[in-house]
Amino acid sequence: MPDDPKEPKDPKQPGGMPDPEEIRKTLESMFGQFGGSKFTMPGATSSAFTSESETPPAPETSPIEEKILEFNYLPRDIKAHLDRYVIRQDEAKKALAIAVCDHYNHVKALKAHDEDSERLELQKQNVIVVGPTGVGKTYLVKHIAELIGVPFVKADATKFSETGYVGGDVDDLVRELVQKANGDVSLAEYGIIYIDEVDKLAAKGGMIGRDVSGRGVQTTLLKLMEETEVPLRNPSDMRGQMMAMMDMQNGKKEKDNINTRHILFIVSGAFSGLEKIVQKRSQASQIGFSAETSDPAMDGALFQQVTTQDFIDFGFEAEFIGRLPIRVVCEQLEADDLEAILKYSEGSLLRQYEKEFEAYGIDIKFKDDGIKRIAEMAAEEKTGARGLMTAGERILRDFKYELPGTSVAELIVDKDLIDNRETHLAGYQELGQELVVEKARQEVEAFIAEFKDKHGVVIKLENEAVALLVKTASDQARSVLQVARQLFRDYQFGLKLIQKNTGQAAFLLTESAVQNPDKFLSELVVKSYKDQV
Ligand code: ADP
Repeated sequence: MPDDPKEPKDPKQPGGMPDPEEIRKTLESMFGQFGGSKFTMPGATSSAFTSESETPPAPETSPIEEKILEFNYLPRDIKAHLDRYVIRQDEAKKALAIAVCDHYNHVKALKAHDEDSERLELQKQNVIVVGPTGVGKTYLVKHIAELIGVPFVKADATKFSETGYVGGDVDDLVRELVQKANGDVSLAEYGIIYIDEVDKLAAKGGMIGRDVSGRGVQTTLLKLMEETEVPLRNPSDMRGQMMAMMDMQNGKKEKDNINTRHILFIVSGAFSGLEKIVQKRSQASQIGFSAETSDPAMDGALFQQVTTQDFIDFGFEAEFIGRLPIRVVCEQLEADDLEAILKYSEGSLLRQYEKEFEAYGIDIKFKDDGIKRIAEMAAEEKTGARGLMTAGERILRDFKYELPGTSVAELIVDKDLIDNRETHLAGYQELGQELVVEKARQEVEAFIAEFKDKHGVVIKLENEAVALLVKTASDQARSVLQVARQLFRDYQFGLKLIQKNTGQAAFLLTESAVQNPDKFLSELVVKSYKDQV
């Protein structure tokens, strides 16, 4: 690092300036008291504090900028990636794939100093996704962000307050992107912010929380979606402010604002009621159309007819909705779709269950009719794919509790098991017992053989003795073989003595031998002296 004339080499800092190292220590111990994390300088690569002289010089192009410059995904590549995880929602996949490609291609052109692009006015492709809960809205965005390698933040619109209010600040979202990007501000500036439940901001004249109007939040979000500079440190965050102060004292000039120009915003919500607005308008425009009374579902066809005015009638500010030019619908998932999710999605819950049971040495297998049944039960929940988790948990809970620790090594989930859970559970428990006894027998045989091999003495165990060994082993979480070895570890001496006294060839160990091996053996020995030949 070249010498910086402004940077004093003497750590004692002339002119009464406090030593940064001292400040660091003081702050570290102070934040330590509050359970704070390791004190890290922004931009520092190591997790510990790095003094100015150790900080590597900033590269001219950051890795993310290089990544953006190399962005060369086609919309079909992104859709193909999404197809691996997300079932259905084809239109949403296409629209999102195109929006994301346009967005990053534009950013790439700007970065490459393409003059045409610089002259071209950027109309950011922010997206609004309409759809009920649990149909893959978040899942789509998450997978897109992962594929491209940009940070992604999700929030609920209902949690915000307008600027100036105490509570969740919309700007915090942007700062959260920096955290997700491990402090890399330039990476955060290309991130994706996903805001769910924006429909709640539109509730007519509605207040979304304590003293907070949805309209006010719309205005604040609007500023972010256009272009604004968000201070890297929250003005009300003491720790942040102190760190900024330290940066200054260290003569360090970090970027202290995050520009939102290249952040892609994706907002979503269920928008229940929007379908009625659209239907009413389209019916009004069709003379002689007989009014339909049934509740329309917001499907792809109806969504085709949604206009900006419909969103305004729903309760949005025209400017706000105007900043969301890409509009897509995610449709409700039916039982068949849920079945397809279980069978074909790479993120299928079944993989998770397989892993969970595998941890207990149980191989869980799902039959087709079982998968279909889980999907049917999930569809009844009416929470989209989230219902799968509810149904799966309900079906498997008792098995997950009862079977680990037994010797059941395979669980077959079919329709019959799901519909008659108690019977099947009892069956598995019984099987577990049988298997335990069978395994115990084998271990007892092994112990007997081992005893004969080592000491040349033949022993046998009564059934009751085996049963008690099994119980002891299970209580102590040890194997039958281990317990038998320990209980009878000195038996060869006593038994050989008896053999000498009586010539007895084989010995039968009873339940009492397992209960109290010493007593049992002493009695046998005493008796052998009486029976001495
Ligand atoms: P929302 O639409 O409310 O944002 P999510 O995307 O968070 O719902 O979905 C919840 C979970 O359900 C996801 O993490 C994913 O496992 C599953 N899921 C939802 N929709 C789909 C889908 N279309 N295909 C595959 N999995 C899905």
